[in-house]
Amino acid sequence: MQHFDVNKIRKDFPALNQKVNGQQLVYFDNAATTQKPQVVIDALTNYYSTINSNIHRGVHHLSQMATNAFENTREHIRKFVNAERTHEIIITKGATDSINLVANSFGKRFIEKGDEIIISAYEHHANIVPWQMVCEEKGALLKVIPFQENGTISIEDYKSLISEKTKIVSVGHVSNSLGVVQPIREIIRIAHQHNIPVMVDGAQGIVHEEVDVRKLDCDFYCFSSHKMYGPMGVGILYGKEKYLNAMPPYQTGGEMIKNVTFEKTTFNELPYKFETGTPNVADVIAFDAALSYVEGIGMQNIKSYESELMVYAIEKLNTIEGIRIYGENKHKAGVISFNIEDIHPYDAGTIIDKFGIALRTGNHCAQPVMDSYHIPGTLRASFGMYNTKEEVDKLVEALNKVKVMFG
Ligand code: PMP
Repeated sequence: MQHFDVNKIRKDFPALNQKVNGQQLVYFDNAATTQKPQVVIDALTNYYSTINSNIHRGVHHLSQMATNAFENTREHIRKFVNAERTHEIIITKGATDSINLVANSFGKRFIEKGDEIIISAYEHHANIVPWQMVCEEKGALLKVIPFQENGTISIEDYKSLISEKTKIVSVGHVSNSLGVVQPIREIIRIAHQHNIPVMVDGAQGIVHEEVDVRKLDCDFYCFSSHKMYGPMGVGILYGKEKYLNAMPPYQTGGEMIKNVTFEKTTFNELPYKFETGTPNVADVIAFDAALSYVEGIGMQNIKSYESELMVYAIEKLNTIEGIRIYGENKHKAGVISFNIEDIHPYDAGTIIDKFGIALRTGNHCAQPVMDSYHIPGTLRASFGMYNTKEEVDKLVEALNKVKVMFG
């Protein structure tokens, strides 16, 4: 593990070194997607300039090389999340795809009319809509754990929603709109007392802190490569073998079959049962490089650096008169959502862009969160391992200018 040196890290990310609107770019939209280190970009071009070929099916050299690199990535992911078995790692297109897979497949096998599914009110739309669809299809009921003013759920509220009809709980690790780290360990422990499996949407969690799926004892955990310095179009689903084995395939076609006749098709074993068609081989292999990069820096180092940056940013932002930070909470990771007086977030975001600062504005695919605060949206600054206190200062300076312009 190397010593954490943010200036050295920044040099690894070519996209950070550019001007936007004549100003040095300040990239604070990491919750939407992170920038990529050169090693990831190189892994992509290396793949296409050397071993590009389709995997699993070929006996020829290139196909075997690509297959090995692809399967090595799966094993790397297993180690990264400390899953027990490599075939418990399913490669998908993204966190959204992973949640759709579980909602559809688990839903088909385990959800019946009158059953109940629990999610929370802070979820990203990706962890709401797939479950809503299952409920509609099966005649099941979606129950929603409310969150409190500080952005976290109350365990008492959660407990009160559990019944003998609850078939699955699906909650986010860290809310993408508020940045609040949720008590997922406790959520899982309580669900398991009732033999209810828990899916964790880790899209905003795993990038900011170490995740050990065995220690957590979650039944499913999903995330996206592109939010953790890897390429787009690659997602991960960890699932316990006992559930994955019992669940039917999500999509069908090539790769996921064992034997096909017109009378009957038998399905491939795990993990291939859930991986239909040609996967995103190049990006998966480049994700391997992203994982190695993150490991080289050290997840603990990233966590403590980002926590310090977060405390600094909250303190500095709070010096702006009229600012309101949503989800004020000491358990926060990566994301600060705020508004300044009654300035519309779109107006503020557009002006902030003129200073070369990339913020996200809007409802952050979490409309129910905005509704509960009775606001149309927020400005969201989200951090990665390469952001600095100087960049936070630039943001605060720019926001003060926005205030004067609208004042
Ligand atoms: N869940 C959460 C908490 C997210 O933040 C996101 C991405 N904004 C998703 C799910 C969906 O991820 P993707 O778009 O990569 O599928």
